Amino acid sequence: MDRFEAEVLKIMEKSGKDKEKSINSLKQQCICHKCYTYNDCAKNAGEGLYCVIGESEECVDNDMGCICHECPLAQAMGVGTIFNTYCIKGSEMEERKRLHDLDRITGGE
Ligand code: SF4
Ligand code: SF4
Repeated sequence: MDRFEAEVLKIMEKSGKDKEKSINSLKQQCICHKCYTYNDCAKNAGEGLYCVIGESEECVDNDMGCICHECPLAQAMGVGTIFNTYCIKGSEMEERKRLHDLDRITGGE
């Protein structure tokens, strides 16, 4: 398990206010609000931290580029390069699972 998975697991083990607090604290470090793909709808809905939470509920669907690779949080957790554009494609864990499933089907070819 890498740092990202450990962090997500730590959050998921929490509940209620504790979980909300952890998510909000990580959200503060998210730089999605500086990205061209992020829009007013996402801002008003308080969206962000898509790498952990998953895709945008109903706001983001137009890919204008992704700056996750510049995100200090992503860099600290080793994500944002192989997978990104989480607001449209889904969370890092979902992307990893998709790749894992594909590898199982193709035998890694
Ligand atoms: S990696 Fe992307 S989605 Fe995750 S916190 Fe950073 S900017 Fe936000
Ligand atoms: S996940 Fe990437 S593409 Fe989406 S808003 Fe954040 S930085 Fe931009």
